[in-house]
Amino acid sequence: MILEISRKKQVEDDEYYLSIADAVERGANCLGSQVGAVIVLENRVISTGYNGTPSGFPNCKDGGCVRCYDSWLLKNGRQSEMTDPGHVSGQALDRCICVHAEQNAIITAARFGIRVDEATLYTTQSPCFGCLKEAVQAGIFRVVYRKWYAAKYNEALKQQYEQLARHLADSDPTRFEVLGGGQPPFASEGQPDPYASATSSGLEPPTLGK
Ligand SMILES: [Zn+2]
Ligand SMILES: [Zn+2]
Repeated sequence: MILEISRKKQVEDDEYYLSIADAVERGANCLGSQVGAVIVLENRVISTGYNGTPSGFPNCKDGGCVRCYDSWLLKNGRQSEMTDPGHVSGQALDRCICVHAEQNAIITAARFGIRVDEATLYTTQSPCFGCLKEAVQAGIFRVVYRKWYAAKYNEALKQQYEQLARHLADSDPTRFEVLGGGQPPFASEGQPDPYASATSSGLEPPTLGK
């Protein structure tokens, strides 16, 4: 009974902090997906982040990220203008100058000297491979996300992603979970491509590279 109550409270808290992550997401500036992240320690928001280019650099939506711009060109039928055919949705995330929301939340805490060890990371999309390994190494204790991000990883990378997630969740499945609970669809790409929405967002074409 007590367990049930504390789980109910946990999910209510998760909803609350993810709603803050939703608000943080509005700051995101990326031609691809918009993501917001919040880090919580002892029931306090200690850091936030959204995805976009490093401060002081041209915004992704203004063409500041070569990889995201290539991906955008492909989706708009301008494949011939791409600098690299590998810069497609869900791939080449490491070539993106955009800092991911979760990275930004961790980095911002470092910048201002705030401990993230044992904290919970809330993110509006499940972390990519890079963000997950960084979160684990930063000492993040728990990850809660709203939507599953289906990156196009090869089998080996999918397995390593799963290892990272299981490192958190093996002893307690709530330590890597979608809001409200549930096993992440590690093996599938069954979720909609979050980058696909960029074509219907009414964005003006960036001027970079023209
Ligand atoms: Zn980018
Ligand atoms: Zn990431």
